Amino acid sequence: MNVKGNIIDILNKRIFKGEVVIENGYISAIREVNHEVENYILPGFVDAHIHIESSMVVPSEFAKIAVVHGTVATVSDPHEIANVLGVKGVDFMIENGKKVPLKFNFGAPSCVPATSFESAGAIIDAADIKLMMENPDIKYLAEMMNYPGVLFDDEEVLKKIEHAKNNNKPIDGHAPGLRGDDVTKYIAAGISTDHECFTYDEALEKLQKGMKVLIREGSAAKNFEALIALLPEHFENMMFCSDDKHPDDLLLGHINQLCERAVAKGIDVFKVLQAACVNPVKHYNLEVGLLQKGDAADFILVDNLKEFNVLETYINGELVAKNGRKFCEICSF
Ligand SMILES: [Zn+2]
Repeated sequence: MNVKGNIIDILNKRIFKGEVVIENGYISAIREVNHEVENYILPGFVDAHIHIESSMVVPSEFAKIAVVHGTVATVSDPHEIANVLGVKGVDFMIENGKKVPLKFNFGAPSCVPATSFESAGAIIDAADIKLMMENPDIKYLAEMMNYPGVLFDDEEVLKKIEHAKNNNKPIDGHAPGLRGDDVTKYIAAGISTDHECFTYDEALEKLQKGMKVLIREGSAAKNFEALIALLPEHFENMMFCSDDKHPDDLLLGHINQLCERAVAKGIDVFKVLQAACVNPVKHYNLEVGLLQKGDAADFILVDNLKEFNVLETYINGELVAKNGRKFCEICSF
């Protein structure tokens, strides 16, 4: 199968007329050819931190809506279901997500229960985390909300971090307002991202100290306006995420909306797309294609680079969404 369009090669910062050749789910060639197609082909969008539970649907249903907006993958913390069902709940999310083409990448919730004052339905301790980190279906250690535990060298917390490191899996942060020496120590523990920044200065400090900062814009917290001015300079270390996306909001759009808003602010489209498509794949080591020869054929077609109206979404070479509102009747899910 061949797909023609203006190919956006984000990694090499170029756009050219060409075609993508797909064989057995992979890109076997990308060729420069002349044609009259005006659409753009680019890698799919990745939500770098989203709790699927907040969309009030199971992963397989979430996928049907997300692919319409050009989302091909998520990095997801199954924290909410784990609070109720523990590891069993995490396993359910992984198995349910495997039923559909969208590439869910689940982490191990690091703080279940979230606080000792919570009457949660389950506990995930360091021994559970060890087993989860050894599971290839678990891609990272999810948001370390217990930052006092990190700062005061809580033994159980440090063990969880150690298990992630021993398996070469990234450790996500969650440290709203943490600054100065405290954030320095938090980072030194091996925590490499934060999606909780709500001011420019806080995000800048975390970036300067080596963290990757996720610009969060969801149904609950909205930090896009506060943080987007950092993207032009720090595009190599930023990503986009929703954290929580209620179903009515998910119907309207996803990461595609954030690209539209960032480009409307005059930010270079390559920088915007690097944050939206490339950085999550590289940081979390995801098996998601970036529109290069040999990659999984995960890409989208959009009509222009202002609104990013998604015309088609491909995952592993399969057309999974076409022309917006139509939910994926055309594909296998
Ligand atoms: Zn979160």
